[in-house]
Amino acid sequence: MVRIFIIFLLFSLARPVNAEAVDYNSALVNIADSLTSSPQNSEDKLKKLLESWDELTAEQKAKLTFYRAVVQTYKGDYQSSLILLGQAEKLQPDKETLNNIYQHFAANFILLKQYPEAIEFMVTNLSKIEQIDDIETKAGAYVRLANLAYEIGAYQELYEYALTAARLSENNNARQHCFALLYIAVADLKKLNFKNAEDGFDYSLQYCRNNGFPLIGSMSLAGLAEVAMHNEDFTNAKRLLEEALLGYQEFNFESQINNVTALLSQTYLRLGHLSLANDFASKVMALDDSVINIGDKAKAAKVLSQLYIESQQYKLAYDYLESHQHYSELILDDTKAKANAYQMAKFKHQEQAREIQLLNQERQLMQTQKELDQSDKTNSLMLVTMLIGSIFFLSLFLLSSHRQKIRYRKLALTDRLTGVYNRGAGQDFAENEFVQICIREAHFSVVVFDLDCFKNINDTFGHGTGDWVLKRVVSVVQPLIRDSDIFARMGGEEFAIFLPYSEADVALEIAERCRMAISNIDTKYSGHVFDVSASFGVASNTFDDLSLDPLLKRADIALYSSKHSGRNCATLYTVELEIQQGDEVTQKPLLFSQ
Ligand code: GH3
Ligand code: MG
Ligand code: MG
Repeated sequence: MVRIFIIFLLFSLARPVNAEAVDYNSALVNIADSLTSSPQNSEDKLKKLLESWDELTAEQKAKLTFYRAVVQTYKGDYQSSLILLGQAEKLQPDKETLNNIYQHFAANFILLKQYPEAIEFMVTNLSKIEQIDDIETKAGAYVRLANLAYEIGAYQELYEYALTAARLSENNNARQHCFALLYIAVADLKKLNFKNAEDGFDYSLQYCRNNGFPLIGSMSLAGLAEVAMHNEDFTNAKRLLEEALLGYQEFNFESQINNVTALLSQTYLRLGHLSLANDFASKVMALDDSVINIGDKAKAAKVLSQLYIESQQYKLAYDYLESHQHYSELILDDTKAKANAYQMAKFKHQEQAREIQLLNQERQLMQTQKELDQSDKTNSLMLVTMLIGSIFFLSLFLLSSHRQKIRYRKLALTDRLTGVYNRGAGQDFAENEFVQICIREAHFSVVVFDLDCFKNINDTFGHGTGDWVLKRVVSVVQPLIRDSDIFARMGGEEFAIFLPYSEADVALEIAERCRMAISNIDTKYSGHVFDVSASFGVASNTFDDLSLDPLLKRADIALYSSKHSGRNCATLYTVELEIQQGDEVTQKPLLFSQ
């Protein structure tokens, strides 16, 4: 099976597609054809075309240079071929030619046993193949790539490329499909899947023969023979190999002839046809020691060594055994070199892939981090917004509820019309103050006053005017008292001012001032003009007083006295007043009367 590929490369040279119009293109097609049949002829044609070099397009120049490189490969001058391929690559070749250039680069490197470089070009080639639009060309490129993979010993790749090639060439290119099928079976054989390999060779044999490719059919026969040899079915192997040999001989396919000859020598030995085994093995041993022959020679040397053991010619047997050892080592070295190159390339590729993956992961990580940061920012922004919002609304809520509370509290404590404390609140606060006063044994005075003839105002000017008067009275009194004094509406048109830490004379003075202020109210702003006045009663605490009640009662007595004295005046409580009033049966307290 070795050596298929050089032949294949020559067989499968892509022909220029649009060859009709230009003469140089026809000449190039002609060269491509003769490369497979008569290399010497093609060299002459190339030389001739080279004379018209200046008239060629860059693309044609690239093709011409490429064909010259092929000729050099064919002649075994791989280095010259590489130089020409390098030149061709720079001459703007079309996609297809560029693909061929890379594949021949790889082929030359394989022949030079520079496997890492070969693999490098195969990898480059692989990436270029994907850019080829024409499906047939693509299939051909995959077949050649499979070829190179086979040569390098990369059998899994061989299998995959062959499968791709088979898929692409099915129904459109029987020759390529035939090769692809053969390579699928070869890959199975190399991967030691003998059953699959047998089926594969059977199938490719039929397909290739039916489609007019008997030479490839012979390769399938040789493949079947190898499977049979593995199965120790040497009778069958003999039949298959002899048939393959005839096929190869028809085409004078020397490298394959040598290969089958070596295999036949092994088979004849196992079948006991010693003379035939000797003849065939000797034929192989007569070949030169070029790379192409070492595999076959290793086999043949072994056969000869065993034959000499049979004939008890131990010296010769030993020499051939050594020879076998030598060729096997060469093969081993070559295999090792291929395997190393392959592993290195794979490692490098994996490293690159790993690096890319790491970079990708890093990028992913950064991206995620960025997104996270962003969402963190958004989150905290949202949180802050929510917090600020909540605080704002909470504050608003608290504020409004505080205001509400104050409002309700005020409503509960104050008189709605005048805004001073209502009776209950005023008395409560005053009572608290009074307790403190008692403890401190301080002075506490009360001023009570009642508007004079208020009923008349209501009756004469209406209830609204009455209200106006009530509010106005409060507004003129309020500035005359301290903040610590407690001003309350006790009911109707009656008010009380509780004066902590105030003695009677001070309280009387305040009462007098208030009286004056009330009587000075200018009522024209109510819409009517009339007189307003109030009568005042003033009382101060004694050390016997335990609550406000007696104090209020005394202030009330003084007020009553003011009313009785003609109104619009202020009276300080005296015991005498009380005695005097006690005599008046009709007297009714003014306060708490409603
Ligand atoms: P006196 O000088 O003896 O106190 O006579 P007076 O008319 O002021 O006393 P009286 O007790 O006969 O009348 C009090 C009137 O006050 C009766 C009532 O309708 C009126 N009054 C009580 N509360 C209000 C109020 O909130 N607004 C108005 N406009 N009138 C009120
Ligand atoms: Mg009154
Ligand atoms: Mg009254």
